[in-house]
Amino acid sequence: MPVRRERVDPVRDHDELGLVHRRWILPDDAQRPVGLTQAARLWRGLLDLGVLDAREEVRLERLRPGAAEPEVLEMPAAASAGALLAGSGVASMVTQVVWVDEEGRRDPYAVEGESEPEGFRDYALYVLDAPAWFLLPIPPIAHVCGSCGTRSELALPRFGEAVLLDLARRCPRCGATVALDRDKAELRNGAVFLLEELACRAALSIELPREPQSEELPDAQVAALVREVFGGTDELADDAVTPSE
Ligand SMILES: [Zn+2]
Repeated sequence: MPVRRERVDPVRDHDELGLVHRRWILPDDAQRPVGLTQAARLWRGLLDLGVLDAREEVRLERLRPGAAEPEVLEMPAAASAGALLAGSGVASMVTQVVWVDEEGRRDPYAVEGESEPEGFRDYALYVLDAPAWFLLPIPPIAHVCGSCGTRSELALPRFGEAVLLDLARRCPRCGATVALDRDKAELRNGAVFLLEELACRAALSIELPREPQSEELPDAQVAALVREVFGGTDELADDAVTPSE
């Protein structure tokens, strides 16, 4: 199975615009710490449950603060949980694409054993061990300062399908630094949220051909694993987006 997104899945080929649905699961408190050990436990658990394919490869990206490009590693899935532990001081993202019709594959969105939609699942786990950064899974187009109300356009550095917000960023008018509980962010669709509703230090993204039936994970064991690592969770959905690269 290719690690890169050169998918040859028939469902995707028939998908008119080639757009996909991306679901983000993140801790419901942006400040709740999720350590590398916990992230590795989640990834290991997804392998053990058969959500991921332990016999195939994964891609791991690491971005160090100040670096222009991430380091990209491809490795056997079996080694990837351990490799996450080495992400001290960096932003890490590990990803694998699987197909729900593969033997032994477990689809956390299956309802009574039926996958809807059929086709691929593209899993990516993000974890930041860099205190200056927060991950914004849905890239905002503007920042609204909580101190002075100034709206300024944002072009934040990409990491995987998310962007990284540097807490040292200053408001161009009043100079205030970022405050997650006060500042707001405007999304492409015009919706405005408090930054803390959009930000996280760790997230699991699941990309599917179309929106799944249920908002929450119907698979109780997978849901329990996610809850064990993230605590209470929020979900952010990004519909009709271009697939991950
Ligand atoms: Zn300001």
